[in-house]
Amino acid sequence: MTFADELARIERSNAAAIIDSATPADVRRALATERLTERDLAALLSPAAEQMLDEIGGRARETTLRHFGRTIGLYAPLYLSNECENECAYCGFSAANRVPRATLSEAEAVAEAEVLRDRGFRHVLLLTGESPRALDEARLARIVALLRPMFASVSIEVFPMAEDGYRTMVAAGVDGLTLYQETYDRATYARLHRSGRKSDFDARLLAPERGAAAGMRRVGIGCLLGLADFRRDIFCAALHAAWLSRRYWRTHITVSFPRLRHAEGGFAAAAPVTDRQLALAICATRIFLPRAGLVLSTRETSALRDTLLPFGITQMSAGSCTRPGGYLHPEEAANEAQFSVEDHRTAEEVFAAIRSAGYDPAYKDWDAELAGGAR
Ligand code: SF4
Repeated sequence: MTFADELARIERSNAAAIIDSATPADVRRALATERLTERDLAALLSPAAEQMLDEIGGRARETTLRHFGRTIGLYAPLYLSNECENECAYCGFSAANRVPRATLSEAEAVAEAEVLRDRGFRHVLLLTGESPRALDEARLARIVALLRPMFASVSIEVFPMAEDGYRTMVAAGVDGLTLYQETYDRATYARLHRSGRKSDFDARLLAPERGAAAGMRRVGIGCLLGLADFRRDIFCAALHAAWLSRRYWRTHITVSFPRLRHAEGGFAAAAPVTDRQLALAICATRIFLPRAGLVLSTRETSALRDTLLPFGITQMSAGSCTRPGGYLHPEEAANEAQFSVEDHRTAEEVFAAIRSAGYDPAYKDWDAELAGGAR
């Protein structure tokens, strides 16, 4: 059985109607429950829950402190390439956009990584577009092997691979995989992913479990908030995370909350998500998944990131640049970026803000070397 079977069951369950019809009494019952059911999750994501954010935030905060204390892990994204053969309507790297394209050489990747290491980062996330001609698995594995001694943890957010491909990555030194489904709504997915390998919904849906089966220590999922009804998308993402956690209990599952931002191409969110709704999504996920890592990127403003910090977040990116070569050459054109960054603080400023909020920022909270490999 795969998560595709589970998603088929969720699709038959009429989840959207259950979420929309939940009452304040359903929300209070969910908040009083220790181990939440699928119906409780639906209640916490409902329009009724949006009016009870203070109570929900209190439970999310208490749950996070109990399971994670006050530690917030910091990581930096490193874009290796913006070349892509897919046409995703919302992405600046889409093949349909006429923007300068670049793929870093191995020496350039090391030079970018040195900037991040010198800033204190020990966890790096490598990103690419989806163009095997520009950067294939073998070349990615060589770059990972070069960067591995420089960091405590190397993760990838790249094109989906077969299980063997993920095994190659783990052998090269990758310990974390991030891969967003973007939306769990099949019709919206088909409309927004117009061409290329990414137009295959199920092939993408099953990639996280292939990564976990291949031995990834950490697997991150999520959806791009703003593409479709966020309540149903977060409902599906949380159930996906719970399914992965049960199946691959040795793998730490994380959930990210990327909200649609401006990108080259000018795509507008069909289902915009307010700050309050983003907070609800984070709190509901935290309460339903007490042990999952929750990730918030620099897509959000500094003020909002500081506000959301206590309600479940365990990892944050900082000082991010979303185009290849951007750390060494920050002065170059922003239209090569995947999306607009909203938190423009340096890593040191984010570190200081987390500390002044009474939390412990950590450039390193795990070390693949000390752990004896990826797992
Ligand atoms: S979202 Fe990924 S696959 Fe789609 S266009 Fe952007 S880089 Fe390419």
